[in-house]
Amino acid sequence: MLTIALSKGRILNQTLPLLKKAGLEIANEELNSRKLILDTNLDDVKVIIIRATDVPVFVQHGAADIGIAGKDVLLEHGANGLFELLDLGIAKCKLMVAATSDKQLEQNILKVATKYVNSARNYFESKGQSCEVIKLYGAMELAPVVGLSHCIVDLVDTGNTLKANGLIPLDHIENISSRLVVNSASFKTKNLQIKNWVEAIEDNL
Ligand code: AMP
Repeated sequence: MLTIALSKGRILNQTLPLLKKAGLEIANEELNSRKLILDTNLDDVKVIIIRATDVPVFVQHGAADIGIAGKDVLLEHGANGLFELLDLGIAKCKLMVAATSDKQLEQNILKVATKYVNSARNYFESKGQSCEVIKLYGAMELAPVVGLSHCIVDLVDTGNTLKANGLIPLDHIENISSRLVVNSASFKTKNLQIKNWVEAIEDNL
C-alpha cells in the first residue's frame, strides 16, 4: 500500500489533474465526502488530504510515503527525513520581504512579522541582520501598518495584496512552487513503486 498526502486548498485543485494524467484518480464522491482517507482507482494507493503544513509532518513520520506541498511549507519544516524528488511547477509564487519603504529595513534589530519564522530568521541571519521575528497566522500585511513590525516575510504572487495595504516588495528570498517529497525510509523499502509514480508524474508535467 502506498499513501499519498495532498495539501488542501489551492494546491489540491492543481495537483489532481497532474495525478490523473499519471493514472491516479479520486472519484468525486470520495473528494466530496467527509472521509479523511480516500480510495483511488488503484487498490494499492490511498490518498489523505490534510493541511499544507501537516504534509511534511505526515511524510517525515512515515504516515504517508509521498507528499505534495509548497516549497514555503517544506522550507519552514526542514528537510529531516524527507527527500524532495520533483518540482511540480504549480502554485508558483515568491517568498519576499515587504515593507512600507526600503528605509524600514535599516534597523539595528529588525522586527519581522511572518508565518514563516524559520525561513525569515535564516534569511536575515545569513545577511548578518539581527532580527526579532513575530509569529502571525494571517493578515501579515497589517503588521507594518499598525507598527507591530518593520517588515513582513510573506508569499507574493501578483503583488496586489501588498499594494492594497501600502506595502512594497523588497528582498526576494526564494522562488516557491509545489514539490513532491518522499519519506526517506519508504524510498528504500518501496523504491520501485515510488520511482514508477514519480516518473509517471514527471513524464506528464
Ligand atoms: P497576491 O496578492 O497575488 O500577491 O497574493 C498574495 C496572497 O496570496 C498572500 O496572502 C499569500 O499568502 C497568498 N498566496 C499567493 N500565492 C500563493 C501560493 N502559491 N500558495 C499559497 N498562498 C499563496
